[in-house]
Amino acid sequence: MRCMNCDIIPLTEIPTPADYMVSLETFIMMTKAGVLEIVYQNHPIELVFAGHTGNKVKFFHQFRCKNCGTIYGMFVNTLSGGEIKINDKVFDPAEYGNSEIPGGESR
Ligand SMILES: [Zn+2]
Repeated sequence: MRCMNCDIIPLTEIPTPADYMVSLETFIMMTKAGVLEIVYQNHPIELVFAGHTGNKVKFFHQFRCKNCGTIYGMFVNTLSGGEIKINDKVFDPAEYGNSEIPGGESR
């Protein structure tokens, strides 16, 4: 279960690009602070935050709380929105036909 270090992470929908920017900033800050570690990303989070999306519209980032091990997954389609959820395990593209994101094609 979640711990005091990570239970401030909102498990919520990300309806707008502005919400996505806030979520990205939060995760970047918590990673830099050493609370979380990035365990999967289909595009470098700092580049996404800077607007360098490499023509991708779907982004998936996973973070693990270094204290309690809870894994957080943030999937966003920049055209339709996204959400932050707790994931059971670290994403392995090989389990999804080498897709970069769960349940979807690479692009
Ligand atoms: Zn935690």
